[in-house]
Amino acid sequence: MVESDPRRSIPRTDHLLALPEVIAAGEHVNQATIKVIISEVQTAARNGEIPVAEVVPTITSKLSSRSASSLIPVLNATGILVHTNLGRAPLSPAATQAVVEAAGYVDVEMDLGTGKRSKRGTGAKAALLRACPAAEDALVVNNGAAALLLAVTALRGRGAGSGEILISRGELIEIGAGFRLTDLMTTTGSRLREVGTTNRTHLTDYAEAIGPNTSSLLKVHTSNFRVEGFTSSVDVADLRTLADKHDLPLIVDLGSGLFTPDPALPDEPDIDTALRAGADLVIVSGDKLLGGPQAGLILGRTEAVQTLAKHPLARALRTDKLTLAALEATITDATNPIHDALHIDAEHLRKRTETLAEAVGATVVEHDGRVGGGGAPGVPLPGWAVELPEDCAEPLRLGSPAIVARVHQGRCLIDLRCVPETDDQRVADAIDRVTSVRVGDDD
Ligand SMILES: *Cc1c(COP(=O)(O)O)cnc(C)c1O
Repeated sequence: MVESDPRRSIPRTDHLLALPEVIAAGEHVNQATIKVIISEVQTAARNGEIPVAEVVPTITSKLSSRSASSLIPVLNATGILVHTNLGRAPLSPAATQAVVEAAGYVDVEMDLGTGKRSKRGTGAKAALLRACPAAEDALVVNNGAAALLLAVTALRGRGAGSGEILISRGELIEIGAGFRLTDLMTTTGSRLREVGTTNRTHLTDYAEAIGPNTSSLLKVHTSNFRVEGFTSSVDVADLRTLADKHDLPLIVDLGSGLFTPDPALPDEPDIDTALRAGADLVIVSGDKLLGGPQAGLILGRTEAVQTLAKHPLARALRTDKLTLAALEATITDATNPIHDALHIDAEHLRKRTETLAEAVGATVVEHDGRVGGGGAPGVPLPGWAVELPEDCAEPLRLGSPAIVARVHQGRCLIDLRCVPETDDQRVADAIDRVTSVRVGDDD
């Protein structure tokens, strides 16, 4: 009978808002958010998803367990270091601390000695120049794409026909989610003059294409794919001689952010080498192999960097204090999670994986980690994973802690390379919960 339907006795919003336990639990939550949570719980009760008696406890538990942001911390068990969908580089403890400290008022643009206005980002810039002595000057902007946008815009030159950027056909890349660097550059009004072919480009291809409208030579690191077989490309030093001959700026977009060569990734280009080979500007992302916050780092010759810094667009692309703090701390820090995952002790990783497999009653398989979209395409990082049935992946993702595993060939693979060792037990417990539910289902 409708009258006796307990759902009719769901408490009204004003009644719930006035309850002392709701007020206490919602102390740090604004009124609009509290109302949304109340309404969600009322709807759940109306739909019979929770009993009416649970309405108040559900609201108070939702309010008190609610985190300030809707972003859910994730354990990355994919073995992919720079995972764009998971926020790329996790910050080091020092960088995290720097962000917390910079969250309040800070002297980002004030000289505390004189009380006068000072330049933003001097600390981060000094750290960059210390890390990269081959650079005369540096500028930090919002991300790698912003750095490229600013570089091609500021170096476009004047005159109606100017603004032709020379780039090899083998370096026209899409960086993900449908974003193409080529489109980014043409939105500035510049034109791309493609030279060479997909697999082979020679210095003569660039030389023949240079004309009165050429504004810059651009070399882009193919960060997320590899062309194999009959291939050739022109290195930075050769492009430098050509650039000098025609008095043109040479921009090198490296994508990921190695300061110096890393023996673990022998084919991955680095800033120091590119600058020494003669690049006027080198562009890298802060949150790829560098292991820092999202940022676009521009390093190079003073004149070129200053041309960018003075362009009006630089103001629209500038970084905030939190990024500057995290970046400086990352550069100064001895290590960070990306560096550690790349140089992980293989034997230790194997032992951790075996311990986990034993704890959850699963098997260990060989599994290659990857750098990810940030660089070193196709380079395997040999390691191991715990093998679980494929249908474990979803409950692990939705659990607490949320664990993102690699789903591959009908299996759910747990790779501990990018999981902090202190979280191994939480991973084991989460897998236990998921697999015990599975057993229950089968009964
Ligand atoms: C990743 C990448 C970019 C874009 O950098 P974001 O920091 O993601 O904006 C540009 N160029 C190359 C070669 C890249 O690999």
